[in-house]
Amino acid sequence: MDKVGETTLFLDLAALEHNYNYLRSRIAPETKFMAVVKAFAYGSDMVAVAKKMEKLGVDYFAVAYVNEGILLRDAGIKTPILVLHPLASNFDGIIDYCLEPSLYSNHILSQFIEAAKAKKQVDYPVHIKFNTGLNRLGFNQEDIDTIVDKLKDTKEIKVVSIFSHLAASEDPKEQEFSIAQIDGFKKLGNAIIQKLGYVPMRHMLNTSGIINYPQAQFEMVRSGIGLYGYGNDAKIDPKLKPIATLKTIISQIHEIGADESVGYNRAFKSNGPIKTATLPIGHADGIGRPYGKGRASVLIHGKMAPIIGNVCMDMIMVDVTGIDCKEGDEVIVFGPQKSAENFASGAGTISYEILTAISQRVKRVVLDD
Ligand SMILES: *Cc1c(COP(=O)(O)O)cnc(C)c1O
Repeated sequence: MDKVGETTLFLDLAALEHNYNYLRSRIAPETKFMAVVKAFAYGSDMVAVAKKMEKLGVDYFAVAYVNEGILLRDAGIKTPILVLHPLASNFDGIIDYCLEPSLYSNHILSQFIEAAKAKKQVDYPVHIKFNTGLNRLGFNQEDIDTIVDKLKDTKEIKVVSIFSHLAASEDPKEQEFSIAQIDGFKKLGNAIIQKLGYVPMRHMLNTSGIINYPQAQFEMVRSGIGLYGYGNDAKIDPKLKPIATLKTIISQIHEIGADESVGYNRAFKSNGPIKTATLPIGHADGIGRPYGKGRASVLIHGKMAPIIGNVCMDMIMVDVTGIDCKEGDEVIVFGPQKSAENFASGAGTISYEILTAISQRVKRVVLDD
């Protein structure tokens, strides 16, 4: 049941399964699949998504931070979990909860070896992150000798995978750059395998990488946004199903005369009689001020109603002139009917940002088959 009595984010796990099957169909059957569930599974429900993905047989999870991994373990998730961005202050939590760190610098590598020694670990699984052009996190090619020297003297840890991340996998204009990143990763992969004396997995593709560079799937791929139903590509979006639908209701309707204003700072000034609806959702729920002043719209009985004036903390006002609607009626902010990408683009941002912005105050309802 997805009837709405208050602002609610409905999550469709059948759509999640559909997206997983679609993404899997784009890669080789033997390629492993890492589901990226950081940031509450892109603003949805991390535990519900992870449980469903574990049931579907996903090989790995990725989270950004250690506390996200702990949340999954506390919920009973048994699948390996890669922590993309651990910090030295969290290493005890990593080991205590059997999480697998991404080691991305000499400092973090040395610190983790110390932590593994202190906890008397042998062959603790770790992942080595390489920078191939994003210039965000990761070792550079020149660091290989130092890394291998350190690893050779260390029985406490063992490299399960080496990985890297594309800077512009969704952008066809940057194809040459992406291919250079892939070639660079291949080379450093070969070098490290030769020196290490054993063969870790390799992975570098996110969702758009899976779509645009399947030749670089190596042993595993990492997908986030695709699982949640967005493909960063007008040709791929129709094949995916958004899992999240954000709905709210009309709290109150106002008839506004010419020369009246609506909302804080009188940011909207009416120049004729209009009808407005006040909705119980605001910037504290994730609809930031950039969505106001007509930049984004919601859907009421199939018609677009633009947000007018400034977004308030707990409310927005929308223009419903000409829409046959009443107090208590359903409003769709985004979902399969009107994508989060579309909503986000009005404010100059992307699906990733609006999805992860939906705050924990918004009720989540999980729909499973
Ligand atoms: C977030 C993240 C991903 C997932 O990217 P999508 O575009 O959502 O598929 C993959 N790899 C890394 C390193 C990430 O930080």
